[in-house]
Amino acid sequence: MRRCVRCRTTAPKAELVRLVRDADRGWRLDPSGTAAGRGAWICPDCAARASERELKRAFRGSAAAVAAELSAHLSERPAREG
Ligand SMILES: [Zn+2]
Repeated sequence: MRRCVRCRTTAPKAELVRLVRDADRGWRLDPSGTAAGRGAWICPDCAARASERELKRAFRGSAAAVAAELSAHLSERPAREG
């Protein structure tokens, strides 16, 4: 089980989106969930709803890039019912 950085909900890895912190470039999306480095997890609901301020709290200077990557990633996933 992994914990979402925004809402603190725990969920299986497969249901969360992983981000990894690259020493040179900061946080980036890790769709495979296997990249080496310090990881953070965010649930799909939070990935879609998190404000820039909330992303900045978790991802600092990478917030804008993370937001763009999350939005691109989510648009590739089929919308969930409900
Ligand atoms: Zn969440």
